[in-house]
Amino acid sequence: MNRTGCVETGAFRGACQCGAVRYHATQGAARHTVCHCRMCQRATGNAFAPLLEVENSRITWQGSPKSFRSSSIAERGFCANCGTPIFYRQIGADSTEFMVGTIDTPIEFTPVANHGAESRLAWVFGLAAVAEQETVASVEAPVVSHQYEHGD
Ligand SMILES: [Zn+2]
Ligand SMILES: [Zn+2]
Repeated sequence: MNRTGCVETGAFRGACQCGAVRYHATQGAARHTVCHCRMCQRATGNAFAPLLEVENSRITWQGSPKSFRSSSIAERGFCANCGTPIFYRQIGADSTEFMVGTIDTPIEFTPVANHGAESRLAWVFGLAAVAEQETVASVEAPVVSHQYEHGD
């Protein structure tokens, strides 16, 4: 694991949307980055991937993520039941990069690098200036969530 730019990060846990795959990582050094490359865009179905990298020795899994070998050097883990992208990992690496959106615990995310900058979408820069709208309670009230919610 490249420790350049690592910051001490508290223990955290995470899960896929259905809860079939869950994980826990102990406190320690972590590298927080964002990747805008085309593979991360495709793999997340999104504009970019916020990633939090920790050593494998600190991770405990509940349930087994399936993985797709997205290139000759990397695999991407996801839940075979609900499809949530969970991690990126270089083949044989001693670390795993979690998709930050799967983390349950509130953590301070402090990215130190924008990887894949050549593919960064122009509109991402402008989001902070776009009008905000919170989820309307009356619209959300009849919605029954099937999302896994942990204890806290
Ligand atoms: Zn799932
Ligand atoms: Zn990427």
